[in-house]
Amino acid sequence: MHKKLISALLVTALLSGCQAPVDMPEQNVVEASGMADTTETGQVEEMSETETEVDDQSSNMVSDKAFLLETDMNGVTQADLDHYTITAVLDAEAKRLACEQTLVYKNKEDQALEEVVIQVLPNAYRTVESAPVLFGDIDSIYPNGFAPGFIDFTSVKLEGQGVDYTLYGDDETLMKITFDQPLEVGDTIKLDMVYDVQIPPAYDRFGYNDSTFNIANWYPVAAVYDESGWNEDGYLAVGDPFYTDMGVYSITYDVPESYEIASTGVRTSEVIENGRKRVHYSAEFVRDSAWLTSDQWQVHVEEVEGTMIRSYYFGEFSFPEQKAVDAARDSIKSFNRIFGPYPYSELSVVATDFPSGMEYPTLVMIAKDRYKSARMNALESVIAHEIGHQWWYGVVGNDQIDEAWLDESLTVFSTAMYYGEVYGDDAYRSYVESYRNSYQRRKVDDGNGVVVKPLTEFASWSDYSNLVYRKGMLFIDALRDEYGKESVLEFMQKYYARYKFKTASTEKFLDLGKEHFGESFDALVDVWLYNTGNVSN
Ligand SMILES: [Zn+2]
Repeated sequence: MHKKLISALLVTALLSGCQAPVDMPEQNVVEASGMADTTETGQVEEMSETETEVDDQSSNMVSDKAFLLETDMNGVTQADLDHYTITAVLDAEAKRLACEQTLVYKNKEDQALEEVVIQVLPNAYRTVESAPVLFGDIDSIYPNGFAPGFIDFTSVKLEGQGVDYTLYGDDETLMKITFDQPLEVGDTIKLDMVYDVQIPPAYDRFGYNDSTFNIANWYPVAAVYDESGWNEDGYLAVGDPFYTDMGVYSITYDVPESYEIASTGVRTSEVIENGRKRVHYSAEFVRDSAWLTSDQWQVHVEEVEGTMIRSYYFGEFSFPEQKAVDAARDSIKSFNRIFGPYPYSELSVVATDFPSGMEYPTLVMIAKDRYKSARMNALESVIAHEIGHQWWYGVVGNDQIDEAWLDESLTVFSTAMYYGEVYGDDAYRSYVESYRNSYQRRKVDDGNGVVVKPLTEFASWSDYSNLVYRKGMLFIDALRDEYGKESVLEFMQKYYARYKFKTASTEKFLDLGKEHFGESFDALVDVWLYNTGNVSN
């Protein structure tokens, strides 16, 4: 009976606090009591001495700053990128968007293309069987019952002419348009689409709830063509199953006047008339664009090293809201210092109904139920984690479906580094050891121990979490043990500088690792990432 109860509690912790788009903060906090004391006590003392200054600038969200802080785009130019221009009008009652989109797609490959493949991810939410329910926990994600989400196209044009298209894939999450004539290397094509997006009642990346609309992975986006050809991936249920190229975005949102908007990019204009609010966002050198909207937020704005942190929150600005801003500020400062500069002038930290946290370019979704005094460690770790993804996934891209570890393991390590930078090396060590304990406890039951493999080869969220979040991070920690903190940070700086605004890969990461650390690096890679050699890890 007792044993059963403990198992039930562990499962609950896994599903509610341990999810893989973020990490396992609460569970790890329980285990890492030293770290919990350090962070919580330190913060409480600091807060009692500091007057909380509320800076509600929600009426001043238009920025006159350039979106890019960075001028060295690593050899990538705007002309190399796909250009998206979208207008999205929200019917808040019908939970529906009316959209018009122009995509100027460029053949960035070294061969002519016969076709273009577009991902239509909202279609994954069409049926309860196919919906990518986070953690498979349908009762939590759809507390008011299932209803479908999808895209309905009313018009698709290629270079101004109506064109045949095929919707295919498991849930019609893919669209293929075959060209009359091949698209030559370096040439572009213009696709105009008119479509409606039905938003489902899901507490998910894509869905509405009592307080917000979470609108991510919501528009037709070009699939990636790489050395393996078109990446015809649907919306997998495990991991963050997204792999996209850098793009340029110009998006106009039209919502009821009482609604505030959080979006990837910088707000360049805002017009209120006839009870509606129209805001325009632009972004460049980003891999995706996500937005949320709510009529219940307040916004706190703070500038940190050239970046405007916009913290969207509910209710009063008090200790938890200050903690969120502090964590965001300390994350930006720490990662700027130890990895390389965050290249954008905007970062939105958005409280929403969501199981934990999720990263999108210049925007992170954070579970609103973590904004409670009793959950400060969970709030802090999820914010540091999702902001870490701005470096790993956001700026340095990777195929998150075939090689999920590459951004996720680096991000968990970055979160540990955040604790080290902010609270000292003991806090780094506590964070890492809490993950090590969880990993050791679970590894007997979970999977085959290989970290580098596609999402489809993980048995479950639990298996995925243990290998990609825990073991992958322990690999980087093992490098730190072997070669020292400074050498590992130097390596990550090199990796960031070499692949910023590009797409890295495990092969590129490992090549650079060998170049930096030397021959002995291979043995650690074998043990930790491929589970060969000393399998006791
Ligand atoms: Zn993550």
